[in-house]
Amino acid sequence: MFIGHYAAAFALRGKEKNVSLGSLFIATQFVDILYFPFALVGIEHLKFEKNFTAVNNFNMDFFPFTHSLFASILWAVLCFLLYYYVLLKNTSNKKVIAFVMALGVLSHWFTDYIVHLPDLPLFYGEPKFGLGLWKNKFLTYLMEATLLIFGFGYYLEKTIATSKKGKYIGRLFIILLLFISYLDLYILPKSDSILLLTISALTSYFIFAKIAYYIDKHRY
Ligand SMILES: [Zn+2]
Repeated sequence: MFIGHYAAAFALRGKEKNVSLGSLFIATQFVDILYFPFALVGIEHLKFEKNFTAVNNFNMDFFPFTHSLFASILWAVLCFLLYYYVLLKNTSNKKVIAFVMALGVLSHWFTDYIVHLPDLPLFYGEPKFGLGLWKNKFLTYLMEATLLIFGFGYYLEKTIATSKKGKYIGRLFIILLLFISYLDLYILPKSDSILLLTISALTSYFIFAKIAYYIDKHRY
């Protein structure tokens, strides 16, 4: 799952005004932000296999430290503790904000569950879970786009523009995300270098978070 993860970011920000959309963009991709560098240095593993799914040319065959449900819960708890005790030490509603950020981290596993082949472990090894939507490229795109549009729609409904920009930049961003996802799925050649994959994944995650942060500055 790629842009579909941001549905959770938009929805959580729609629910809780005091959380930053940009930070939620990082939270919802947090375990992927760890996974690619972990695979690069050998803590976890990724194997290139041509046409592994209709969408990917790689098999994420070992990733219990980032993509098991147990690890996802641990990362979410760590995120809660980091916000509660460090980043928001003197903020009055720190409990709610820390909890929403933690939910953002945890949401990744459940959105991945829709698309992954049954490779998401509960803990370490079997049993593994995944509905396998990645077997169908069009359905994958449709699911990602639908999730994103619904999440964004909820965000628009729950927030108001505080400037002229706030009225339209969010919509432009959604069009951009849909376009990038289309390019990624249908047009761009598949790389078989973990380094390039890591660089392109992390670069896009951080640029998208920066744009989300900017959009959120223009809505309340
Ligand atoms: Zn993932």
